[in-house]
Amino acid sequence: MRPPPVHGLVHGASPALNRHLALPPAAATRCFAVMIAHRPAAGGIVSGPERRLIHSSHRKSSTLPAELPPGPAVPPPQPTLEPSRAPLSVLPLSMILRSLGTTAVSSSPLLLAPSLRIMAVLAHSGSALLNPDRNPLLRFFLKRTFYAQFCAGEDGAEVRDTIARLKGIGFNGVILGYAKEVVLTDKQAGQLEGAKVGEETQTVIDNEIVPWAEGTLETVRLAEPGDFVALKFTGAGRLALHQLSHRLSATPYLSKSIDSICQLAHERGVRLLFDAEQDRLQDGIDDWTMEFSRKFNTTPGRATIFGTYQAYKKCAPAVLSRHLTEAREGNFTLGVKLVRGAYLGSDPRDRFFDTKADTDACYDGIAASVLTRQWNSVLEGQGEFPEASLVLATHNAESVRRARAIVDAGVAKSEIACAQLQGMADEISCELVELAGQGTAVPVYKYLVWGTTGECMKYLLRRAQENKDAVARTRSGRDAMWAEVVRRVRNAFRFA
Ligand SMILES: Cc1cc2nc3c(=O)[nH]c(=O)nc-3n(C[C@H](O)[C@H](O)[C@H](O)COP(=O)(O)OP(=O)(O)OC[C@H]3O[C@@H](n4cnc5c(N)ncnc54)[C@H](O)[C@@H]3O)c2cc1C
Repeated sequence: MRPPPVHGLVHGASPALNRHLALPPAAATRCFAVMIAHRPAAGGIVSGPERRLIHSSHRKSSTLPAELPPGPAVPPPQPTLEPSRAPLSVLPLSMILRSLGTTAVSSSPLLLAPSLRIMAVLAHSGSALLNPDRNPLLRFFLKRTFYAQFCAGEDGAEVRDTIARLKGIGFNGVILGYAKEVVLTDKQAGQLEGAKVGEETQTVIDNEIVPWAEGTLETVRLAEPGDFVALKFTGAGRLALHQLSHRLSATPYLSKSIDSICQLAHERGVRLLFDAEQDRLQDGIDDWTMEFSRKFNTTPGRATIFGTYQAYKKCAPAVLSRHLTEAREGNFTLGVKLVRGAYLGSDPRDRFFDTKADTDACYDGIAASVLTRQWNSVLEGQGEFPEASLVLATHNAESVRRARAIVDAGVAKSEIACAQLQGMADEISCELVELAGQGTAVPVYKYLVWGTTGECMKYLLRRAQENKDAVARTRSGRDAMWAEVVRRVRNAFRFA
């Protein structure tokens, strides 16, 4: 194990945080000044605007020959604030009980296998009896259980209610996705087969691009200022898939549609997260993302357009470093949504880090670098670090804790938001909600999709599969929900 080098230390910060940041002497001195000047007496609370003000005078950053992130032998940095009461106490009892039921099913090998089979049949069946949008009994059951756990609503009114409820609990906002996927009838598919590959015919526009663009525009209208909308370019259909896989520009109508989605989001103060997808499409997705980032991310330090970076990919730091350099040279803010990556089972294995620990190190190293606007040994680069906005999309408690430690220490220079899927990792999200009440500044968002129960079935199936793949985390979620039920029952008896 290589010991972490001692570059300039942030005096007053814990030794672990110093190792985590691995700052050079000059940067450390600046951070020291910032921490002393702005660290409030009551627990290191730094609000967003204050942070921006603090950091605006420290634009210069350097390339660090630093060792980062710490290996397993180095204790991770600890946030300075801990929640003063049980984090899940912010949730209504109905949500606790529903989560307990869902996680209990998902963590039981006996119940999960048949549930997954049933979900798969419902998601792919063409039968009216098995279609929740046509079978009222089925819809009634699903709507009140799995759908309510993970989805936002079937129409505008329901979606707005859900957003208001989540904000009422204390979440800063939502990431809204549109569940409906483009499914062609046999006749439409036949017409497409007949068309020249890569040609933007009227049939392609009417059957694939328009439904996707309309649905996405509606989603941007449903989101409130400050919220995010997540979208997949491949949702625009086969032509988009073709262009992306050959790393070609978006065709004229498609490009115009993406532009109008960005324009509407920009006008409404809604931020757009362009999802990362399969490896063979990602270079194309990155090209399109950068094109629209350049046009719309003109507000310093606050991005409208976010690209997604998958930390399990060996090339992720190099790609992000190149994009950051382009952002600096093009004078725009880079939106960075950081995930570990969801295509481990299907993409070529040699593209990924060999171990989970390597992926974790890459994730945490990139997060620390973007958050502090300092190049490091994971995210290497030259010259000034540009303006960036970071969305930390993860259910990993350790990654969230590390980011919080940086924010609590007052050395974060980029805007940050944390995001988890609705119905998952509630103990992590609620801890951030609870800490926000105590003044710590890591905004937290829940990701949900909207659409009819039938339209959301494929999304629900993916969530069930994800729970199966992360059994340990699902169990700990179930245990956290159960502990919260026990805590509430005890409290009720204590005060009875
Ligand atoms: C709000 C939100 C948005 C998301 N958007 C996207 C998106 O646009 N594109 C996308 O691809 N994913 C996306 N994801 C999913 C994400 O990539 C992860 O699959 C998921 O969040 C699990 O990772 P984790 O960080 O939560 O935690 P963990 O459970 O700690 O990490 C699990 C992940 O680690 C990695 N991993 C596991 N084993 C190994 C191994 N042996 N070697 C190398 N790496 C390994 C895999 O990426 C795996 O998914 C999103 C997740 C969230 C919460």
